[in-house]
Amino acid sequence: MSHSIAIVGSGPSGFYVVDGLTRALPGCRIDIIDRLKTPYGLVRFGVAPDHQGTKAVARQFERLALKPGVRFLGGIELGRDVSLAELRAHYDAVVIATGASQDRTLGIPGEDLPGVFGSGQFVGWYNGHPDCATLPVTLDGDAVAVIGNGNVAIDLVRVLAKTPQEMQTSDLVDHAAQVIHAAKLKDIYLIGRRGPVEANFTSGELAELGHLARAVPVIEGAEIPQSSGVADEAVAKVKDKNLEILRGFAGNAAGSKPITIHFCFNRTPVAIEGGDRDGGKVERLVLQQSSGSERHSIAVGTVITAIGYRAPGLEGVQLDEGKGIVANNGGQIAPGLYVVGWAKRAPSGVIATNRADSLAVADKIIAYLNGQPHDDESTDGIAGLCRSRGVRVVDFAAWQSADRAELEAGKAAGKPRRKFIDNENSNQRPPIR
Ligand code: NAP
Repeated sequence: MSHSIAIVGSGPSGFYVVDGLTRALPGCRIDIIDRLKTPYGLVRFGVAPDHQGTKAVARQFERLALKPGVRFLGGIELGRDVSLAELRAHYDAVVIATGASQDRTLGIPGEDLPGVFGSGQFVGWYNGHPDCATLPVTLDGDAVAVIGNGNVAIDLVRVLAKTPQEMQTSDLVDHAAQVIHAAKLKDIYLIGRRGPVEANFTSGELAELGHLARAVPVIEGAEIPQSSGVADEAVAKVKDKNLEILRGFAGNAAGSKPITIHFCFNRTPVAIEGGDRDGGKVERLVLQQSSGSERHSIAVGTVITAIGYRAPGLEGVQLDEGKGIVANNGGQIAPGLYVVGWAKRAPSGVIATNRADSLAVADKIIAYLNGQPHDDESTDGIAGLCRSRGVRVVDFAAWQSADRAELEAGKAAGKPRRKFIDNENSNQRPPIR
């Protein structure tokens, strides 16, 4: 006798729901459904390839996936292979844990030019996401601009700036390593529309930029204050530490290492301009002083925006367009239908932030299920239905064998892992329904 739950999305927020449900409802049956054949979502495709320590959380998720009653069903896409109504008919509760995969846009002229990328796409490219493997990244020219002052922007800068030797302990995919390490970058501009106090960096990530072999961080034309002046003690602690690190960077000389990382605060991007060659490929980023009207351009061959993400539209689910999330009330969309993670609250926090958030939603699911009759039949969930439609459903054992093969291939290359890129881009398969 057991309740059955479908969790759509196998990233951290989905797995933390599995944790909560399996503790409170030991006999329950959980299917974790993912459109990709590999589990762990942003742990695999978002966390920077040189932050292997952060990726180690996947081992916790693996233990959850191997618990009795829990299955991973990869290769099934909600809205294409199966409808939300079908999921709800097959399970006692359904949880949406599909994240916020759509890059926010600046809304300025030139954003669609060749050579301009959203961070979601660019990070997916260097992490081997099947949707992004063919992103036309060239990194020609000697300068790149990264727009945004969050940790994703820092990740991008660091991955671009590190040497092949520094990336040897990473699982940066081969196609990205070839492009990044052949590039002749001299300048990376990190653009913030507000000041150093308002930047969203965490201190560890910011400090790392001060210890790179071939890159030196400098501060462009901004005073770094002595104190953040923020009232909240915990927030002030992080901000003040950041300011201390930035004051350290302010003493660095541009050009003292092959690559200079320019922190440009209080500059708002107003236009991206292309040239006459390569289909108008980006050549300049036009910036305006955030508190004035003064404008200037920087010559760049690539622009990457790292300005946050939105949840994409999902069949059967209403979006809160203003917030870029799935419309929900504390994680509940409707009785029996829930949402967790970035799709619930927008991108914020670190991986562990999802734990408390998902466990709180799991409590709501448990309260709901306890008032519902049990489904006594042991069914094949939607796996059988999808297979009958010709969907190649991949189980956890298949992932474990791919995982072992990637680790072996990594060992042979002297790296922690060598990712195999699944070239069967699921988005390009025709819908079955
Ligand atoms: P984020 O922290 O929200 O940063 C987004 C940045 O984009 C902000 O500086 C924001 O500036 C700026 N921005 C937004 N709209 C803009 C516009 N129109 N023009 C110019 N700038 C604009 O988001 P994120 O960096 O994408 O990170 C998402 C989450 O993942 C965060 O919680 C982050 O900490 C987490 N993460 C953690 C790690 C790690 O722990 N190592 C690594 C990567 C990501 P304003 O503040 O002015 O809006």
